[in-house]
Amino acid sequence: MIKLPRWASIDPEVQKKLDAISVDLRPKRWYGRAKAVVNFKDEILIQGRLIQQERCAWCTLPLGAEGRRTVHRDHIAPSSLYPQWTFVAKNLVISCEYCNGLAVKSDIDTIKELKHTYDDCEFHIVHPYDDEVELHIQFDNDRDQLPVVIKGISPKGLWTVRNMKLDDAGLARERAKEVFYEQRGQLRLPAQEEDLIVSALDAMNVAL
Ligand SMILES: [Zn+2]
Repeated sequence: MIKLPRWASIDPEVQKKLDAISVDLRPKRWYGRAKAVVNFKDEILIQGRLIQQERCAWCTLPLGAEGRRTVHRDHIAPSSLYPQWTFVAKNLVISCEYCNGLAVKSDIDTIKELKHTYDDCEFHIVHPYDDEVELHIQFDNDRDQLPVVIKGISPKGLWTVRNMKLDDAGLARERAKEVFYEQRGQLRLPAQEEDLIVSALDAMNVAL
């Protein structure tokens, strides 16, 4: 996971229009064409991709154009359970298809203690804007602290790793590959060994 420095800022006039929508209608309006809704969703996406530097808030892998890496706006507290926060920018992050999708986050209840205001709620999930992520989730199992294998180190961290499936073997492999490709430029191996590693990575791709 990434600790995010800020959430998207929304034009107060737009926010006012969204806040005027009655709570139970908000999840449905999310998919509508109203100008304020479209503007809000655009800002979430455009600003979010910049703030998160084109990475998924949960699995930290780069966002892309295809398959499990495509870009989604993800409600931290799902709008199906908490319609009141459908249009709260702080309740949204950008995530990949895999983390946002039916297989993982979907409609998991991320709130432990519901309060009247968003900021007063207590979350099960490590909150990407409010929590110091490294106090809850760290990378494990290698002396160089490479960002590959994830583990939870607090109740919140454990909950998040388990429910968001952040320790999924496929994702760890993807992170391993990414670290490898990043370091290739600096740590050039003899050609023969490099060929060997590249074919091993290709074999992994086939397995995925
Ligand atoms: Zn992800």
